[in-house]
Amino acid sequence: MKKVIQLLSVLVLILLAACSTDANSNAEESASEKDKEVATNEESQNSEGNNKEDNKEEDNKKEENKEETKEEETKPEEEVEKKYALNPAFWGLEPIGDAESEAVLLTIDDAPDKHAVEMAKTLKEIDAPAIFFVNGHFMDTEEEKANVKEIHDMGFEIGNHTMSHSDLKSLSEEKQREEIVKLNDMIEEVIGERPKFFRAPFGSNTDFSKALVKEEGMLLMNWTYGYDWNKEYQNKAAITDIMVNSPLLQDGANLLMHDRDWTAAGLADIVKGLRDKGYSMIDPETIDTELE
Ligand SMILES: [Zn+2]
Repeated sequence: MKKVIQLLSVLVLILLAACSTDANSNAEESASEKDKEVATNEESQNSEGNNKEDNKEEDNKKEENKEETKEEETKPEEEVEKKYALNPAFWGLEPIGDAESEAVLLTIDDAPDKHAVEMAKTLKEIDAPAIFFVNGHFMDTEEEKANVKEIHDMGFEIGNHTMSHSDLKSLSEEKQREEIVKLNDMIEEVIGERPKFFRAPFGSNTDFSKALVKEEGMLLMNWTYGYDWNKEYQNKAAITDIMVNSPLLQDGANLLMHDRDWTAAGLADIVKGLRDKGYSMIDPETIDTELE
């Protein structure tokens, strides 16, 4: 009987052991399965994560490429510090903050006719920035277009002076639009960017053209003084003297000159005379074109 009891208890022990092993192994199995799942999830998460990072890298590369192409297409849109604001009271420039107040702006209208490229070279040589206001009728041929590009490539600002140099007040709104927008399109085609400055022929603006110029993102300007279209100043000595000694010369003055023989001849001396008087030449890029 003792033996039977011993046998039974051994059997029970074995059964219990078997059960518990079973239970344990099941638990282990399920645990390891869970581990596997977790591992798989982690793996997939990792791989997803890696993919994400890869994608990010690719995106970054794409963006870099985009930026590179942008720069190639439109040239540097470097943020130049804005130092001057236009004051329509005298169409001159006023310093923003502590910018140099004893400074003037050089502008050359009706370009590029016969002398603009030469004038740009003269100014470049003496490191004097300027805006060249161009007309569409001086951009008819490939050669003329190349002149505009050459002036721009030398670092000068290209402004819009309308397609045909007509008095905007004599034109319909549709024609005014053509005079202004068509030239912006043309300039963009040649130099890769739209002009930021507008000057109407004869300084003759309409409410419509003013609104359109603004819509086109340009700053409208007339001028403080200019003389080279008057008979008495149509020689080198006279135009040089009056541009430097005009009673209208003042801080921020906006100087109007043209693509003319005598002005081209006097240009270097005009800049020298102004500098001798203490004036520096305003870089058009430092003019805030977004202010009212
Ligand atoms: Zn003009």
